[in-house]
Amino acid sequence: MTPALQVVDLTRSYQLDGVTVDALRGVSLRIDPGEFVAIIGPSGSGKSTLMHLLGCLDRPTSGALRVNGVEMARLSDTQLAELRNETIGFVFQSFHLLGRTSALDNVALPLVYRGVGRAERRARARAALESVGLGHRLGHRPSQMSGGEQQRVAIARALVGEPRVLLADEPTGNLDTRNGAEVMAILDRLNGERGMAVVLVTHEPEVAAHARRQIHVRDGLIELDTGEAAA
Ligand code: ADP
Repeated sequence: MTPALQVVDLTRSYQLDGVTVDALRGVSLRIDPGEFVAIIGPSGSGKSTLMHLLGCLDRPTSGALRVNGVEMARLSDTQLAELRNETIGFVFQSFHLLGRTSALDNVALPLVYRGVGRAERRARARAALESVGLGHRLGHRPSQMSGGEQQRVAIARALVGEPRVLLADEPTGNLDTRNGAEVMAILDRLNGERGMAVVLVTHEPEVAAHARRQIHVRDGLIELDTGEAAA
């Protein structure tokens, strides 16, 4: 089986005021289609850096990263953006929605970049919003919605392109317990019913417990991987 994501000896250093910060110091892991993985670790341990690399939002300092078997280093920035758009969906802690654009248009946006026609974009965006229980909020703007609803719009936007992998960086971090539980139930369902791999960063043990595999990161290294046999 081709891994959905695979990284080998990945490092990422930042230069800050003449000082080098080694945020990732040699990380190897493989994530297969349909896995549900939680990345856990203290603040500053490199979780966001790793997520940005897994999501092809950034390039490593050294090491290899393959998305769906394709070696990232071989791709131009344009090709990388295309691969990302087709393969990976993102959910962020702070939603990253266009506040004054309807839920429907927010969700349809990734399909614009794929050249999907307007009628099909709207039909697929509606279906995605219905699948997260927001079929009655199509015309609402995020600024008129609760945090939980906004995160569900963001999930609909992430899944409208039918990605193989959903990456979520602290998806419940800005939500109360009830809304957080609802978001996790949706992620569980997407993983179970559609076989979408889900990789999330969290510092909440009850969120991490939803995942079948936990990866503990500390000081830029993987300290423990409960799914290590698969790596
Ligand atoms: P986490 O998500 O676990 O909190 P990060 O990946 O954000 O950790 O950060 C890992 C380390 O890299 C930290 O020491 C952080 O200060 C540093 N870092 C992250 N982003 C940058 C950046 N753009 N420039 C310089 N240092 C950074």
